[in-house]
Amino acid sequence: MLEAVRTALDPTPAQERLLLSHAGAARFAFNAGLAHVRAMMEAHGKPEWSLYALRRWWNRTKDVLAVDADGVPWWRQNSKESYNSGLEALSDALSNWSESRRGRRKGRRVGFPRFKAKGRVTPRFAYTTGSFGIIPNDPKALRLPRIGRVHCMENVTKRVGGARVLRMTVSRHAGRWYAALTVERADDVPLIPPEGGAVGVDLGVRTLATLSDGTMIANPHTLKTNERRLKRAQKALSRKTKGSNRRRRARERVARLHARVANQRRDLLDKLTTRLASTYSDISIEDLNVHGMVRNHRLAKTIMDASFFEIRRQLEYKTMRTGARLHVIDRWYPSSRTCSNCGRVKAKLSLDERVYHCDGCGLVLDRDLNAAINIKVAGSAPETINARGADVRPATLRGDGQSTVKREPSGRTRGVSLGADTRKSVLQAKTN
Ligand SMILES: [Zn+2]
Repeated sequence: MLEAVRTALDPTPAQERLLLSHAGAARFAFNAGLAHVRAMMEAHGKPEWSLYALRRWWNRTKDVLAVDADGVPWWRQNSKESYNSGLEALSDALSNWSESRRGRRKGRRVGFPRFKAKGRVTPRFAYTTGSFGIIPNDPKALRLPRIGRVHCMENVTKRVGGARVLRMTVSRHAGRWYAALTVERADDVPLIPPEGGAVGVDLGVRTLATLSDGTMIANPHTLKTNERRLKRAQKALSRKTKGSNRRRRARERVARLHARVANQRRDLLDKLTTRLASTYSDISIEDLNVHGMVRNHRLAKTIMDASFFEIRRQLEYKTMRTGARLHVIDRWYPSSRTCSNCGRVKAKLSLDERVYHCDGCGLVLDRDLNAAINIKVAGSAPETINARGADVRPATLRGDGQSTVKREPSGRTRGVSLGADTRKSVLQAKTN
């Protein structure tokens, strides 16, 4: 199983110059390769742009291409890996364009690659071969061939945890350098899941997460403050004259704040998912953010969508490590509108109704907690229904009369939507 471990680097000023030089080398190889491919296209029509062909071409011509004013080759200054990653990026960009042109690629149309201008693109290069990565007995550092031992902000050896490192991408975002390691982890899953029982998780804007046992995980104050600052900085940026120095500074400020908010969010989500995966045997979450609670609020929506995606991604690999089961609930399941006590479904629940009032049984409960309990029941219901056999009639809200409980080969549950009758039976089954 592949996994990404991302860490901030803490290079010395001399190392920073080398990092920039390596990123510049990758850009140089990309641009030189692109010029070569374009020239070939004009001459022959169909050039070869496999990574293999590009590499061969580079090895033939690098002594001519990468020379200084005195005609002395300078390409040796940087690791050969940096040139290779530029060629790899070019080969990927060309095949994406080619696939897209022939309609064989999903998503937005991909154009022909453009030359990478310094200052416009993210400085980036990668290592795929050689002795790069973690250093034995030096947990807070990484080895970057030709650059040396680079200090890290955290114990990266612990995070890699003995897994095999396949690739290391080094890039600069908002003025800071990061290393992203692609690691391959052995699938030695512990067979006994944690003993905390089942839990439903409702994710929100006001509170980061509400658990079905009543635990609320708030968004920390620093994050809220930074999000407010980011909003203000974005507004300030939009007012600056194009091409001005003030606009450039305002843009840098927005980028810095963006990075800070994203880092704080990621850290928070990391702690939440670790806690969930190591505490509970069954974790139920919703498929996507469908609450509609962040309509007309673009920043919040972007952050929310990213958080949903990130929480699911993290839970998927962390539960594999702890043996917990992850249940992803169908996106149409009305977790907010359903009463967690009697199963009655409200036709409408406005966004500012923070407390759920049930007209059927008189339940009064925090809106998010009510949703979290529903998510928990929906996620752990399949077992209950199966155990009860014929007693329970699986109903669906779509009215197609079929059970919507599906099991994927991995043992994960998908697509659960239960009608009021079933929910009532499920609850009875639990109390019986
Ligand atoms: Zn009720």
